[in-house]
Amino acid sequence: MPLLCPLPGQSLQWGTTPAKDGMITGRTKLLGVIGDPVGHSLSPVMHNRALAALELDYRYLPFPVKPADLGTALAGLAAVGVGGLNVTIPHKVAVLAHLHDLSPLARQVGAVNTLCWTDQGWWGTNTDVAGFLAPLGQRAVGQPMLVLGCGGAARAVVAAGRELDCPAIHVVGRDAAKVAAFVESWPQPLAGVQGHTWEALPQLLPTAGLVVNTTPLGMGAARDASPLSWEDLQALPASVLVYDLIYTPRPTRLLQMAAQLGLETQDGLAMLVGQGAEALEIWLGRPAPVAVMTAALETHLAQAI
Ligand code: NAP
Repeated sequence: MPLLCPLPGQSLQWGTTPAKDGMITGRTKLLGVIGDPVGHSLSPVMHNRALAALELDYRYLPFPVKPADLGTALAGLAAVGVGGLNVTIPHKVAVLAHLHDLSPLARQVGAVNTLCWTDQGWWGTNTDVAGFLAPLGQRAVGQPMLVLGCGGAARAVVAAGRELDCPAIHVVGRDAAKVAAFVESWPQPLAGVQGHTWEALPQLLPTAGLVVNTTPLGMGAARDASPLSWEDLQALPASVLVYDLIYTPRPTRLLQMAAQLGLETQDGLAMLVGQGAEALEIWLGRPAPVAVMTAALETHLAQAI
């Protein structure tokens, strides 16, 4: 059961049905995502398809918001009745300063990706953790975890590692100071979380039950790159699950190589859908149409190639 916005229904009137012809009318309400840039966001694709499937008179829009305008934008969006927002790069941490309150999970992760308007102000939480866990089920419970990269997404992955009762969480980064800061930055000391630089990989790989790529190696300009080499992948136990947070290309070079070696793989699309579904459930207080959202993204990504 997801967290609910602490004052559900204060600002969201979910009984509203759309006009018969699907037109935007004076009653249509707004949800959206704030980021800079935000044009690449796939959230409008999956959320608008979900809202249509649920027959709700809402639209979900991308709002480009510069860092210097964050406070003004949040106040303005609240003033025009936007009841729920997603938050993406670069605002996931900066938004904390503009919240009335946040969930214990978001406090632990130190980043917020979902906002809900209450009569006291914006309330924030983090649905990336639930999104990461969504495709795993019981698969990774109790497995030692190896996390490649120590940026924003790695924070949600480490928090998820706690939920999975991972006996050890090894976090690897290319900058020793950043890794140390990452490990020390948690509000409460996290038992079992250890930081390393990439040189430690040969010792870490044979012990991993779940390997997670949180670096951008494998996407965009680094599309042909992989954070792990053939040799690295061969050092992993045969029972390992290789999880890449990247969702385009599908598969990434890392997952292609892992599959060729017969290793189990997971890409980032289910996480993307999972974090969006959890956000929608928080806003609506009802189940999100996960299959509709997944199909919307798969179609969109296939057309984009
Ligand atoms: P981020 O905060 O910028 O963190 C990226 C991390 O990767 C940092 O630790 C960075 O190290 C490291 N890194 C970057 N380039 C590297 C390289 N060439 N070699 C080794 N390490 C490198 O980004 P993020 O927000 O965590 O996102 C990371 C990835 O996760 C992206 O690919 C993003 O698309 C994906 N993601 C997916 C989902 C989903 O729903 N599936 C959700 C969130 C993120 P430095 O700090 O030293 O630069």
